Amino acid sequence: MGLDLYGNLGELLRLDHDLGVSMLPRIPAAQPPPAPARAPATVAPSPAGATPRDPATLPPLDDRHLADLADGPAAEQLPQIAQRIAGCQRCGLCQTRRNTVPGEGASDAALLFVGEGPGAEEDASGRPFVGKAGQLLDRMIVAMGLRREAVYIANVIKCRPPDNRTPETSEIVACLPYLQRQILALRPRVICTLGAIPLQALTGDLRRGITRARGTVFTWQGIPCLPTFHPSYLLRNPDAKKTAWKDLQAVMAMLG
Ligand code: SF4
Repeated sequence: MGLDLYGNLGELLRLDHDLGVSMLPRIPAAQPPPAPARAPATVAPSPAGATPRDPATLPPLDDRHLADLADGPAAEQLPQIAQRIAGCQRCGLCQTRRNTVPGEGASDAALLFVGEGPGAEEDASGRPFVGKAGQLLDRMIVAMGLRREAVYIANVIKCRPPDNRTPETSEIVACLPYLQRQILALRPRVICTLGAIPLQALTGDLRRGITRARGTVFTWQGIPCLPTFHPSYLLRNPDAKKTAWKDLQAVMAMLG
């Protein structure tokens, strides 16, 4: 998992340009965090204190439709979850989607990226992060010394919201159990959340903003999560790329 400076020199230099940094990164020496204990493969409870009457917190989730999913290796669970997603009609987004986008990657991934939801290219292909933002994410992953195939990439929302609008709270509540089951199956060592929606979904705090929260570690089911900006935001706001690169360096340090 260490950074191959020579093998990735070209990508690093490209990312230096993309992210607006002026020199190659120094990898901070850090001890990897202890591997979190494997939790029983049950659906995570709703955020503590969440009530339907509090608009600032995520309402309780209804995850009974996944209660019959068997425990087992991630390589077995992930396709079952994707199959459930493919037939899902739990919110109105099923009426406008072309394809569901469950996520993809290595079933033994140490690092999980979580974005907001599919855009047009993702809706057309059924794969996450394949548009322009996905191409930037790919370069970020390579600059971290990793390969896209070695990480896992998923979204909170598995069907494209029309016109790429922000998902509604009811849609997040309907869809979040799938991501939670994916995380519990994968048990990655680190989760890097991209943008405000996955930050809010995994903390249950709908007021939490990415600008203040980025770079600040929180945990979900004992797994450290580090929020940073969404690649789409970085494409619109190149000045934020330097900050995002610092966050990715922190992720690299957490991976060890
Ligand atoms: S967005 Fe999620 S909850 Fe809504 S239909 Fe798609 S898979 Fe189901």
